[in-house]
Amino acid sequence: QASNLQGYAPICLGLEDFYIRRLYLRIQDCFGRPIASAPDAWFDVVERYSNDNNKTLKRTTKKSSCLNLGSYNYLGFAASDEYCTPRVIESLKRFSPSTCSARVDGGTTTLHTELEECVANFVQKPAAIVFGMGYVTNSAILPVLIGKGGLIISDSLNHNSIVNGARGSGATVRVFQHNTPPHLEKVLREQIADGQPRTHRPWKKIIVVVEGIYSMEGELCQLPEIVAICKKYKAYVYLDEAHSIGAVGKSGRGVCELLGVDTADVDIMMGTFTKSFGSCGGYIAGSKELIQHLKYTCPAHLYATSISPPAAQQIISAIKVILGEDGTSRGAQKLARIRENSNFFRSELQKMGFEVLGDNDSPVMPIMLYNPAKIPAFSRECLKQNVAVVTVAFPATPLLLARARICISASHTREDLLKALEVISRVGDMVGIKYFPAEPKKQ
Ligand code: PMP
Repeated sequence: QASNLQGYAPICLGLEDFYIRRLYLRIQDCFGRPIASAPDAWFDVVERYSNDNNKTLKRTTKKSSCLNLGSYNYLGFAASDEYCTPRVIESLKRFSPSTCSARVDGGTTTLHTELEECVANFVQKPAAIVFGMGYVTNSAILPVLIGKGGLIISDSLNHNSIVNGARGSGATVRVFQHNTPPHLEKVLREQIADGQPRTHRPWKKIIVVVEGIYSMEGELCQLPEIVAICKKYKAYVYLDEAHSIGAVGKSGRGVCELLGVDTADVDIMMGTFTKSFGSCGGYIAGSKELIQHLKYTCPAHLYATSISPPAAQQIISAIKVILGEDGTSRGAQKLARIRENSNFFRSELQKMGFEVLGDNDSPVMPIMLYNPAKIPAFSRECLKQNVAVVTVAFPATPLLLARARICISASHTREDLLKALEVISRVGDMVGIKYFPAEPKKQ
């Protein structure tokens, strides 16, 4: 990676800006040098997430608040909630912040079993198992599911937790072009002869790993096509729904619901609780046999402290709100709001002439900056006008595909979004990132 960068270094050299320095410090860090902190909204220490559904961030250094367009708070649950919060407080009193025990050593409370039933029901699979961290769910589960003699075929833009899990499994790993089913089929064909029964193939098993919504691209997975190919070649489908569960689908059940895929056709459903549910942890949902197997064999289940009980309670409560089991229509309203907000914001940005990646209905919206030199100006100017955006650069993206990544929340009001659009438009003109002609405004 370092040697690939050398060709691009002149673009960055001489730019006296912290972001470029930050980029370099990250690279230098590969060689054991320390990373310095830098003064932007996301490196800053946040004094508190606001009590307005985590719409704003209160920063310590500037003693100011800014509109939060960066957190994965899709349904606005990462804040005090009239249904969730009293229950979380109650669970804290009853169970304490931590069980201080692994699941099999006294760390399974009634909340843990309730959570697993609740998640299985929500994602419409027979059973589920939960973990204390989403990242660990991918990186610890893949090595349990597959090993030497197995084949993982992974989307080229899959999250680092999947990459780590795949590498750690010892299986052979092949990558297919991002979200391109014909290329997946080509890779599969190269690995096995078409239509051969599973027992005659050179691989003990094949797992195809994809994401529901890609976190740096905002794209929905081409799941129906991928599922059909996996059926044809008898490969298992592993779907990471970190950014799609709770955020899309008529009842928030993710990309299967949105794209009309039968959950029975997705063998391993993975997701995290850190986005739509305002909590922490991750889950795997699948057949009863699969989940039972994981419970007996997965080291992250056997040897790690169980998910914090108040975090578990938050997830259970959020799911109840989403499904209307709190006796209100707040869940349905949140789902309608995230969809409406996302589609409005995306189309307005496009009308202004920005290049926005991703699909309709996706709350993840990368605005392309391309040149890393545009990152500091864009982020700093937005922040000066009290709008906090996340900018993403190498190594999370290729060096010359830098972007600002907006995450829309159901808790943003139309007024918030209009204010953000105004700021982003002004800054976009200043930085020169409106790559298309703007649509004339209707009178
Ligand atoms: N999978 C994907 C696709 C992600 O984007 C992330 C983190 N954003 C994770 C897994 C890890 O989840 P967590 O942050 O909950 O540990």
